[in-house]
Amino acid sequence: MPELPEVETIRRQLAPHLEGRTFTSVEIRDFRWTLPAPPELIAAELAGAHVERLGRLGKYMIWQLDADRHLLVHLRMTGSLLMDADPESPHTRARFDLDDGHVLTYVDPRRFGTAHLMLSTAARDDYLRARLGAEPFTPEFTAEYLREQARGRSAPVKAFILDQRRIAGVGNIYADEALHGAGVHPLRPAGSLTLTQWRALKESIERALSAGIDAKGASIDDFRHVDGARGSFQDRFLVHTRAGEPCVACGSTIRKLVVGGRGTYVCEKCQPRPRSRRVSP
Ligand SMILES: [Zn+2]
Repeated sequence: MPELPEVETIRRQLAPHLEGRTFTSVEIRDFRWTLPAPPELIAAELAGAHVERLGRLGKYMIWQLDADRHLLVHLRMTGSLLMDADPESPHTRARFDLDDGHVLTYVDPRRFGTAHLMLSTAARDDYLRARLGAEPFTPEFTAEYLREQARGRSAPVKAFILDQRRIAGVGNIYADEALHGAGVHPLRPAGSLTLTQWRALKESIERALSAGIDAKGASIDDFRHVDGARGSFQDRFLVHTRAGEPCVACGSTIRKLVVGGRGTYVCEKCQPRPRSRRVSP
């Protein structure tokens, strides 16, 4: 599933194609993409719209349009945005014709992706604020913020990191990588981490995300760049999907666990298993 680095990669690649352009026509072929809004209504609203800027928050791409309209695009599991791909591909859910003759398609085999049109900046911000916690690389994303959010919580720290209402943009890959980098076991109760450990984890999350952005994302499933190419961060994973291989830091064998229903990779020498499930007050 595309996480912050993958969505940021798409945003950076798409911005030069879309910013300053106008949609001459828009066709939405899957009613699920715009639920609860009817696709014809959204397509009619988008046709003729001028794209001012492409932004991002967490895993949401924000297409800022004229007249204070904002399309929030979420790729979920298998969504991709492709420039000048075959628009008749069976998984094409939406087609945008641009005024420079190029065609952007939204392709999504599993159909979990979404697009929501917000008709004001205030509506956009309310929508995102209700769903997203602090964004890494911003001043709000501090060790103190994380400790406060986790206070009293006995759920595993990995589940805490994956909760978009706490931290915006981190998913399964970068959570595993960040926990390994910080030497924190994914099953540690979130409320049991010390401020020093939150500092290490905050740094490690940002380091993992930066490395992912530098590698233009990870393609272990359907993630593709706007020209169909793959990212390369999967070649640099420290633990994720590397069960049975030696840890690059200590040589111990990496194990696969299931935490909160998600496949989780850990080096239990670098990341000591919690001895008790007690949560410090
Ligand atoms: Zn290790």
